[in-house]
Amino acid sequence: MPRIKDESKDAVIAAADMVDVVSARTALRRASSARYSGRCPFHEERTPSFSVDPVGKLYYCFGCGKGGDVVRFVQETENLDFVGAIEWLAERFRVPLEYDESSPREDAARQRRERLTALLEQATAYFERMLWETEAGAPVREYLAGRALREETTREFRLGLSRGTGLVAKARERGFDVEEVKAAGLANARGNDYFPFRLMFPLADARGRVVGFQARKLRDDDPLRGKYVNTPEGELFKKGNVLYGLHLARTAVAKQDRAIVVEGNTDVIALRQAGVEPVVASMGTALTESQLRELGRLTKRLFLCFDADAAGQEATLRGMELAIRQGFDVRVVALPKGEDPADAPDSFAGRLGAAESYVYYRVRIELERTDDRQEAFIRAREILARTEDSPERQDALRLLADRLDLPRETLAGLASARAGAAATPAPADDATPRVLGAGMQRERDLLAAIVGNPSLVPELAALTPDHFDDPVHRRFRDLLVHGGDEDAELVALRAELGARAERDEIDERMGRELVLRVHEQKLRRDLKLGGSDLVRATALQAQLAKVRSALAELG
Ligand SMILES: [Zn+2]
Repeated sequence: MPRIKDESKDAVIAAADMVDVVSARTALRRASSARYSGRCPFHEERTPSFSVDPVGKLYYCFGCGKGGDVVRFVQETENLDFVGAIEWLAERFRVPLEYDESSPREDAARQRRERLTALLEQATAYFERMLWETEAGAPVREYLAGRALREETTREFRLGLSRGTGLVAKARERGFDVEEVKAAGLANARGNDYFPFRLMFPLADARGRVVGFQARKLRDDDPLRGKYVNTPEGELFKKGNVLYGLHLARTAVAKQDRAIVVEGNTDVIALRQAGVEPVVASMGTALTESQLRELGRLTKRLFLCFDADAAGQEATLRGMELAIRQGFDVRVVALPKGEDPADAPDSFAGRLGAAESYVYYRVRIELERTDDRQEAFIRAREILARTEDSPERQDALRLLADRLDLPRETLAGLASARAGAAATPAPADDATPRVLGAGMQRERDLLAAIVGNPSLVPELAALTPDHFDDPVHRRFRDLLVHGGDEDAELVALRAELGARAERDEIDERMGRELVLRVHEQKLRRDLKLGGSDLVRATALQAQLAKVRSALAELG
């Protein structure tokens, strides 16, 4: 597909009527001179929290956090990619499109991708036919029925059967060469079928395009080791990018604003069959950065489910911490030993209801990991010290006190551990999600103030990128100060900040105050870290005094 010319894109966006486009999805009314509002088309709600800026052509929902520009809105509601959305808008608002000539190398790369994708799609259909329409498939169909998986469910996930032979020949018959079949991970080095006699689970990207397979062992004489074997990593397949079941769960994730993450593909299938939604599997015990990024576009609330063996493993904890650091609200469902979600899908809803908060879970795991009371205490204290006070933290504290039978004074010390921790130099302090929470919010408010009051851009320019902890905030500062191209992430942030500035009535005076507060926050932190250098400390003190008097002047 050739590229649409940039001028054409701009013309389409200029011609698009934002209110018109959104009104087709939800009723809008004028909320102020500059904005419209209505009930959010992306989540269920009774009172309107969906805000539209008709001039900037931006939308933002205060309920579910979705936001972006008119193109993004069409992408989301019509389920299209960027180019598709531009073409949709062009048709709607009658703007003729012009396309760029693309380079021969781009063309070749694109054609290659398209061919491999087509090959994987045909292989999927081939495996499906082998499972449902052949004699060889009969025992496998029985096996599935024996695991209480209904045909309609397994067909939805497009399960199939590799017979260990026949696929490469079929692909060649269809005009693919052996090199392509290898590149798609379907042939081994000798040019024979890569997968032996196995049950095939197609692995799809978020849009439902098959990028690889996971194959489950069915026979004892299987030449491949491992109960489950994946397509080898290659041009299209990267295991760490795949979230099993996401393309089917997408809408429900956004609508319910949560995702349930389990370990096994069959768990995803069994739970969906039992009506538990939205469930995805992580392709391993640890969630990867790219999986979290994909999920983060849809929700910030995760329920992570692990069996008892995986629960305390370092890899599991690493994935969890990664999620916490990226601002996810994590709840943990640790299943009893030997139980898979697929074993008892009906009681699974109850387990979800009893999910533990991250801090409670971590403290519990630390207590169970060692018999040494002292060691358990030290580790649990560390976790509590990194967490801001909350009902969940109180629960964790009570658990610690109960299990270790702590005296009252020790407990009182822990209850205020956060304040105590600040006195000791602990850089890890700043990485804690809830602590970042307040600072992060201030950064966001400040940026909203600038979006709402462009006259303040010079004030923002006087702050350095170092004044912002969040990398996205940093990029947004650069954009406001220096201009440049926006990607989808920045457009979404601009949509949110504009809506916020209006709702919270952030005026210029408040903007100035926020600039000073962010300044003050950084100076105080610098002082805490570099306080031992007297000359530097004095200079920082002087700056801090200046900022404070400026704040006092603002009143
Ligand atoms: Zn919403």
